[in-house]
Amino acid sequence: EFKKHTSIAIFGASGDLSKKKTFPALFGLFREGYLDASCKIIGFARSKLSDEDLRGKIEPFLKKPNGDKDSEKVKQFLQMVTYISGPYDESVGYEKLRKEFEDHEKSNKLEHPNRLFYLALPPSAFVAVCTQIKEVAYAKDGHNRVVVEKPFGHDLSSFRELQNDLAPLFAEDELFRIDHYLGKEMVKNLVLMRFGNTFLNAAWNKENIQNIQISFKEPFGTEGRGGYFDEIGIIRDVMQNHLLQILTLLTMERPVGFDAESIRDEKVRVLKAFAPIDYKDVLTGQYGPSEDGSKPGYLDDETVDPKSKCVTFAAIGFKIQNERWDGVPIVMRAGKALNEGKVEIRIQFKGVPSGVFNEQIAHNELVIRVQPDEAIYLKVNSKTPGLSTSSQVTELDLTYARRYKNFWIPEAYEALIKDVMNGDHSHFVRDDELDVSWKLFTPLLNHLEGPNAPTPETYAYGSRGPKNLVKFLEEHNYVFEDRNLYQWPVATPE
Ligand code: NAP
Ligand code: NAP
Repeated sequence: EFKKHTSIAIFGASGDLSKKKTFPALFGLFREGYLDASCKIIGFARSKLSDEDLRGKIEPFLKKPNGDKDSEKVKQFLQMVTYISGPYDESVGYEKLRKEFEDHEKSNKLEHPNRLFYLALPPSAFVAVCTQIKEVAYAKDGHNRVVVEKPFGHDLSSFRELQNDLAPLFAEDELFRIDHYLGKEMVKNLVLMRFGNTFLNAAWNKENIQNIQISFKEPFGTEGRGGYFDEIGIIRDVMQNHLLQILTLLTMERPVGFDAESIRDEKVRVLKAFAPIDYKDVLTGQYGPSEDGSKPGYLDDETVDPKSKCVTFAAIGFKIQNERWDGVPIVMRAGKALNEGKVEIRIQFKGVPSGVFNEQIAHNELVIRVQPDEAIYLKVNSKTPGLSTSSQVTELDLTYARRYKNFWIPEAYEALIKDVMNGDHSHFVRDDELDVSWKLFTPLLNHLEGPNAPTPETYAYGSRGPKNLVKFLEEHNYVFEDRNLYQWPVATPE
């Protein structure tokens, strides 16, 4: 475990991710007592900045979870942070870095230093930086951990190329590939929920479940920054990585142990049981202007090719060919510029046998809301309270904000950096997982981006997505209940 005196380098420290996520996460861990003041943090990038410039850049983002400042803690934290400017592909800056790390480690009499290298950089810089780290700044007598950010490739061949470049430099257990969804509280809870509850575990199969949905909804479009998105599309942006991670945790078999490798073995195993994605089982969309005309369509973004067929919404049908899931339709859907922002898992159970009740009995649904406002609720049928004998849909509800008061739920990046310090790979993506997931998605991406690419269905900015979504979900066995059957009484948790 990396505790005291750890040497931490953040590459790309001048950038967006660093100031918004990496430094605030280190600060959060420091504030809560999980990062020792004896650690040394060095920002590294090409920009010519002084220590004070870097501190000034990150300081506005160092806050308590409620948004308040803790000036004393911020001051202490910023004292731990310094900066080195240097090119990524020459040794000069890395030599300075090594010297500062060595001085720090010697003054603390560390025989086996712990070094953490965090790459908050575009992937085009990964190999150059990793090569220099290995040659110059790597602790030969100590422990080294290297954190890299997505994207891990653009398709199967570019992923393999990146992997072939990095594999000779670092052992797999030195590499931590961040998919920050794996650091989210609800995603971390999935394994425990499934395997720690007999009633859920018993019902988690094709006999009882008729539809699984994983939904990602974003209420905004590219807002003038579409140039970047146009080459990526929604499938690479959130589905091949974040949503697929959720799906594997949701559908994998019970691991032989709850250690990182056992869990990751099972994730890979279930991924290998996925049927190839059928192009006909995919609904794609691209947002147009909002109905009232106040919001622009995707193609109105000046940074985007006006003929772009870029997919800003997709619903994809998956099939898992094993004993547990054979025949259960799984829909993953994600979209930008929709009516709301949320990420949720919705499991719809099969109906009760007919003939028992005179009235319509709704299907049970288990909903796990990953964000915002973490919640798990199970929609159940219950007798209407009082003299009535009729049934009513109600809920067993676990709303985190109501149930857990004064509880620190770490941000994804806080949880993940803590895991790196502990050397725990459970919430990081393994190389073979990426290989299988790119194998699954690459043919679909080639189809959607090839010469015969279908034109995505246009949907209005701020709508629920393409009109055909309801039909698509119904074709995947999702039953839309009469919306009058269920009302949620509490608009927002108090
Ligand atoms: P960024 O701001 O564009 O880049 C970070 C730093 O890298 C820049 O300040 C720049 O520093 C250097 N840099 C930029 N372009 C470069 C290039 N072509 N070659 C070499 N160095 C370059 O990126 P970011 O938003 O911080 O994201 C970093 C990584 O995290 C990316 O891989 C991104 O996909 C991933 N990511 C970002 C977010 C986010 O919220 N921003 C979320 C998830 C994942 P200097 O010029 O000073 O060297
Ligand atoms: P719901 O809003 O009834 O949605 C169920 C499904 O139907 C979703 O797939 C939804 O798609 C779709 N849908 C909803 N309205 C539609 C429409 N007009 N056209 C087409 N499809 C539509 O979900 P619910 O789980 O029964 O919850 C109802 C409300 O209660 C929600 O606001 C929920 O947040 C709230 N609630 C909150 C808690 C809590 O905070 N603990 C507990 C229980 C219920 P989309 O996913 O695209 O919307």
